[in-house]
Amino acid sequence: QFLKTKGQHILKNPLIVQSIVQKAGLKSTDIVLEIGPGTGNLTMKLLEVVKKVIAVELDPRMVLELQRRVQGTSYSSHLQVIQGDILKTQLPYFDVCVANIPYQISSPITFKLLSHRPIFRCAIIMFQREFAMRLVARPGDPLFCRLSVNTQLLARVSHLLKVGKNNFRPPPKVDSSVVRIEPKHPLPSVSFKEWDGLIRLCFNRKNKTLGAIFRQKTVLSSIEKRYRTHQSLQDSEQMQKLDGEDIVMLGDVSNDTSMAIEGCDYQDMDTLEDEADLQAPSSFKDKVLGILKEGGFEDKRSSKLTQDDFLRLLDIFNNAGFFFA
Ligand code: SAM
Repeated sequence: QFLKTKGQHILKNPLIVQSIVQKAGLKSTDIVLEIGPGTGNLTMKLLEVVKKVIAVELDPRMVLELQRRVQGTSYSSHLQVIQGDILKTQLPYFDVCVANIPYQISSPITFKLLSHRPIFRCAIIMFQREFAMRLVARPGDPLFCRLSVNTQLLARVSHLLKVGKNNFRPPPKVDSSVVRIEPKHPLPSVSFKEWDGLIRLCFNRKNKTLGAIFRQKTVLSSIEKRYRTHQSLQDSEQMQKLDGEDIVMLGDVSNDTSMAIEGCDYQDMDTLEDEADLQAPSSFKDKVLGILKEGGFEDKRSSKLTQDDFLRLLDIFNNAGFFFA
């Protein structure tokens, strides 16, 4: 049962193991974080190349097996095994992450890594094929989605290797792919919370025009609520200024890329109800649509927009006092 729910599919093909290690571009001075080492097939190859491997493994039986495997070898002092859930473990310093992970935690692991500081050099991760294709999808690709846009805001991603199910024991139900994730350095100066708030709206109907999405009553009312809150906060700041008191700042939103990433739930991506026909009353709607129109976005569809388009869209909304988080 544990085997099934924890995604324990051991990579048994040594050529794939070798290829992953090669593609990781490792240096002899590197510290590697390995997630879910299992019986250690990948771990042993990593130990041949790098200074240190820190392996985080949930299953105590696997931890024992791995420890037994290095015991008495020259590698034992280069391996640190942490028994625990990677999602609840405070990550140590590492240069490169290498992982053949249980697929059910793909999204939280990706964003946990991307919010880790200091920024690491790259992560080489085995994902379920479809998840991998979503990560690397570009505007216009059928799988281009909120996950692609959010990941590509923070990192350069590329597809490295297709891995068929028969390379694992027991074979999983789905095919896999190895992906390279290279965090951007420096990160774009944008609040990730704001960014994700906008992207979530834009992709709730990715093939509709932005004009149609922003006409929806629920979308408009959520933007209006934030607009009012923001306005009143600004007013009270203004009042405090006039009173000569200390001003309570809203907080620097330009540097909080790390704080908002974790709670993202990509499973809910496409499940919003169809409310395109419920029209909101005018005036506020006109303001929002006016901004879209001026920016040339009214007839555009999220499925075709680039990172730069989304950054510009967020910028023109924010400049007009409209916020998404
Ligand atoms: N890396 C090994 C290989 O390539 O043969 C095993 C890969 S297997 C797909 C995934 C491994 O992750 C299993 O050993 C499993 O026990 C472990 N695991 C599952 N959930 C985990 C979690 N939340 N934190 C750390 N390890 C986990």
